[in-house]
Amino acid sequence: MNSYRIAAVPGDGIGKEVIAAGVEVLQALAERDGGFKLDVETFDWGSDYYKKHGVMMPENGRETLKSFDSIYFGAVGAPDVPDHITLWGLRLAICQPFDQYANVRPTRILPGIEGPLRNVAAKDLDWVIVRENSEGEYAGQGGRSHRGLPEEVATEVSIFTRAGVTRIMRFAFEIARSRPRKLLTVVTKSNAQRHGMVMWDEIAAEVAQDYPDVTWDKMLVDAMTMRMTLKPQTLDTIVATNLHADILSDLAAALAGSLGIAPTANINPERKFPSMFEPIHGSAFDITGKGIANPVGTFWTATMMLEHLGEKPAAECLMRAIERVTADPSLHTPDLGGQATTRQVTDAVIAAIHGDN
Ligand code: ATP
Ligand code: MG
Repeated sequence: MNSYRIAAVPGDGIGKEVIAAGVEVLQALAERDGGFKLDVETFDWGSDYYKKHGVMMPENGRETLKSFDSIYFGAVGAPDVPDHITLWGLRLAICQPFDQYANVRPTRILPGIEGPLRNVAAKDLDWVIVRENSEGEYAGQGGRSHRGLPEEVATEVSIFTRAGVTRIMRFAFEIARSRPRKLLTVVTKSNAQRHGMVMWDEIAAEVAQDYPDVTWDKMLVDAMTMRMTLKPQTLDTIVATNLHADILSDLAAALAGSLGIAPTANINPERKFPSMFEPIHGSAFDITGKGIANPVGTFWTATMMLEHLGEKPAAECLMRAIERVTADPSLHTPDLGGQATTRQVTDAVIAAIHGDN
């Protein structure tokens, strides 16, 4: 029997609530399937840990995580700890050294959920956004001179490497190829940014030679926001830089109905290091402790984790269970306009898993 070691890192705020729910659902799946075993170890790293120890995770934390098959991550961020400490101290401290350079964000309007777009049927919006997750605009390069003076100058330098762009482009073409429509849109801003973005366009054209079965086109990021909103059915797989995809995927989550249902995977495609799976929402302290966090994004991300581990039937079983539950408005949490609790949604998904045949 296959056995997987999962490191659960719930982090802060509702991260703790949704990951606890997600672990229950995963265990129910393993029980039902009988074909694999999950060994889940939970780590209490995050802002509370920081307040006690002065660091978000212990010094050997990364070494500890390295031996796991996957990381199941909640959220970081707390009102009384600066964002750069929580983000760089935990989330990026895992993403970067584990070379999780491909960030994958599927977007769909699930059954029973209404997106904000009139005239767009659920079937017209089915995307996978691939975000470059290791360089680009978030490379952290730049600086400030004459701080506070009238002549102050600040630079924010984007770094694009041929190797970095080529590997994300290949990854995106592979995803596009694996989907029925075999359609890829490469997003840049190469009309205004004349160096890195032009190299993106060139590398896209080069890599495309190896994927004659994939239809691809180029789009400027500003025009892309219009196309996503007005003609969602013309898009399928989308690849963009760290910054552009960050923005586009928030738009995508909103168009699909709620931040609370959107999943993401930070993948190390070479499988040299564990990949990390998380809902895209944050720690949401405004609803923490109330028991009303929507766990669907965390469940959906578990399907991605199972698929990555090679347990496709279990991933599909979980997705069917999620869709059965979202289809019932009495099982919608307040972010979807309903009154259900995290507990009720979790129990319903577990019941649907056991009733699946
Ligand atoms: P962070 O700084 O960690 O990103 P945040 O509070 O700025 O946290 P989010 O946590 O993403 O941002 O929350 C944005 C809004 O969406 C909040 O009002 C929050 O309550 C709501 N929200 C986010 N996730 C969920 C969820 N899973 N269920 C219900 N509401 C959610
Ligand atoms: Mg936020």
